[in-house]
Amino acid sequence: MITAAESSTALEDRLAAWGGHAVVSRYDVRTGTWIFIALHDPTLGPPTGGTRIKTYPSPADALTDALRLAEGMTAKWAVVGVPFGGGKAVLAPPGPLPEGERLALLRRYGELVESLRGGFVTGEDLGTTPEDMRVVAGATRYVLGGHGGATPTDPGPFTAHGVAAALAATLAHLDGDPDVAGRRIAIQGIGDVGMPLARRLRAAGATLVLADVDAGRVRTLASELGAEVVAPEAVYDVPCDVFAPCAVGAVLNPDTIPRLACRAVCGSANNQLAADTDAEHLLRRGILYAPDYVANAGGAIAFARLSQEPGAGRDDLFHIVGSIRGILDEILAEAAERGESPLHAARRRVERTLAAGAAARGGQEPAA
Ligand code: NAD
Repeated sequence: MITAAESSTALEDRLAAWGGHAVVSRYDVRTGTWIFIALHDPTLGPPTGGTRIKTYPSPADALTDALRLAEGMTAKWAVVGVPFGGGKAVLAPPGPLPEGERLALLRRYGELVESLRGGFVTGEDLGTTPEDMRVVAGATRYVLGGHGGATPTDPGPFTAHGVAAALAATLAHLDGDPDVAGRRIAIQGIGDVGMPLARRLRAAGATLVLADVDAGRVRTLASELGAEVVAPEAVYDVPCDVFAPCAVGAVLNPDTIPRLACRAVCGSANNQLAADTDAEHLLRRGILYAPDYVANAGGAIAFARLSQEPGAGRDDLFHIVGSIRGILDEILAEAAERGESPLHAARRRVERTLAAGAAARGGQEPAA
């Protein structure tokens, strides 16, 4: 077991090694929950990102997740040109909490967010529901899509729409045809994003192979859509046009990449690459990689629009999310021209946007 001294050294080490702006931390005594709000980069606007509730092996692991995810949000907002900064919150309870305690924790967390006076704006993420966000929004004005205490909209369908737009760009880049009809697509994880994605791809004529650790859920969806099912571990070996990771991170790694039998990877999961070097590995294998933070930006784009225009209708939101296709088109073209992984082209786009944001501020430090 890790001692308190080791744990605090790990926290210090991770904070010291981080290049971000600031971290707000609190230990919620009543539930034994660590809360970390990581504010990565406020150059483009207020740090904005989801609230994740998850139990981790140690507080340092929870902090590490918050730091990594906040950094990912900086890239996500910048790559799609939304004027928000990168941030993320992680609530790490010691285990499942009784419902009453969980709701009280969410309210206290909302008060903490409110105390930052707009220095952090949040929404749903892994382990939190639109209902949870309604509770948080009861204590703070700074919940995206949660103004006036209304139940914030589920981002899953918007993220799925964005993945479909990214798929169109990916397929067009592979062989000049964006149409999914007749394509074989393997989806890993059929949750909030994977399920609506599967339904729309099937409706558009794709052949689907589905995998999920929840055997009942995958069987039900497969029979609804006439899709094939494979065991979770077998999804990497499925011959297909596109592998769509829509479950967990780090699924593209030295163990799985040699097994992939797809032509491209395009899905919603955050942090799909175990390490950046895995992007080179995919490139060497001739597998086109749609950078995750571009492909999965749909929910973020929709919520950003809602925060700027609370009355925006669903059609309007879906339309703006569709801009992911053009953005990814440009990234894939730039990468192809340079013979590099699309990850590098996406990163350059992020750096260009951040530099332009900093220049627009006249080199002044933003107040986050
Ligand atoms: P979710 O929890 O609703 O669904 C995940 C699904 O994956 C579940 O059905 C789960 O059983 C399954 N799963 C978990 N581990 C698996 C494994 N090893 N193999 C196969 N299936 C597995 O999550 P979600 O909201 O659909 O998000 C999916 C991914 O997309 C996550 O990485 C999330 O961070 C990312 N993402 C989601 C959104 C969004 O709008 N929800 C936005 C951006 C990124």
